[in-house]
Amino acid sequence: MHLARWSDVGQLEVADVALVPPEHDEVQIEIGSAGICGSDLHFFRGDFPARIGLTPGHEFGGTVSAVGADVKHIKEGDLVGVEPLLRCGMCPFCISGDYHVCADHGVIGEIQNGGMAQFTTVPGLTAFKAPQGIDAELVALAEPLACSVHGFDKVCLRGHETVFILGAGSIGLTAILAARANGAHTIVLARHPHQQAAARSLGADEVIGEDEAGVARMEELRRARVVDVAVETVGGKGDTLMQAQLIVRPKGKVVVLGVFSGGPVNIHPLYLAAREVEIIGSMTYAGSEGHTDYQIALDVIQDYAEEARCLVTHTFSLDEVNTAFATALDKASESIKVHLKPNSLVV
Ligand SMILES: [Zn+2]
Ligand SMILES: [Zn+2]
Repeated sequence: MHLARWSDVGQLEVADVALVPPEHDEVQIEIGSAGICGSDLHFFRGDFPARIGLTPGHEFGGTVSAVGADVKHIKEGDLVGVEPLLRCGMCPFCISGDYHVCADHGVIGEIQNGGMAQFTTVPGLTAFKAPQGIDAELVALAEPLACSVHGFDKVCLRGHETVFILGAGSIGLTAILAARANGAHTIVLARHPHQQAAARSLGADEVIGEDEAGVARMEELRRARVVDVAVETVGGKGDTLMQAQLIVRPKGKVVVLGVFSGGPVNIHPLYLAAREVEIIGSMTYAGSEGHTDYQIALDVIQDYAEEARCLVTHTFSLDEVNTAFATALDKASESIKVHLKPNSLVV
């Protein structure tokens, strides 16, 4: 079987390796679609060293091709998505469902082989059966979507609340669906025209740009005190966390989903205190009260399957993996989510 693997900084190669059967607690999956994430691009750019020889990919869906003897919840032939979190399974955090903050946690595709391959093998407990009516490409979108499902769960988002989403990359855009699934009203701040178009396709109630009109509208929203929850999805080195603090209403909540790679960012302590605004960090997804964020994300994708399809803007075969990464990196490509189809010869 063929897989992509890191061969150097910013370089992937396709190799042909033997397919090994799963261990007793593992599942082998024939990959239908695997997405490229911003974190994969960090490795591609060389911001962090990639593990040479490792197959990337933590957003994927596919068909179960073999199961270990102890795996009972899914069977061969099932379409599954993978919640790509590895964990110790024994610490208090793991036992209580907060396995995303396990001290030994890691991500499939970063510390063990991921989904950019014809087949991959994962721990059985990370494989979730997909709901009816969606395919592997849509299943692969559940991973980024699960991040905002988790964030909204942390702030107990209610129906008819207004959510202001800062940023319209794949986290910001999938957050529209998670907010809609909660019955919330959504306003999205999107920089690029193709992102604004996607936000509208996904059913955002209002989309504003970063132009003069957008700035004026944000000030209007701030004064009107109507934003219950502001979601920061940009990260990096921007001032979006400050914008989120300013726009949210008194006693409102700011959810931090973006990954801040730069130095410190600005906090406005007096403004936060005077308005009793809470800033809440949110990392990946987890489980609580008999639910997992990942399963909810799969269900949300099923509910909004038609809208969600617009997120996948480019698809490539496995042999084109370097082109696929370059496309995801190239702003001019206007890509939102670039997917690999490892088992398609012609795309
Ligand atoms: Zn990711
Ligand atoms: Zn643990």
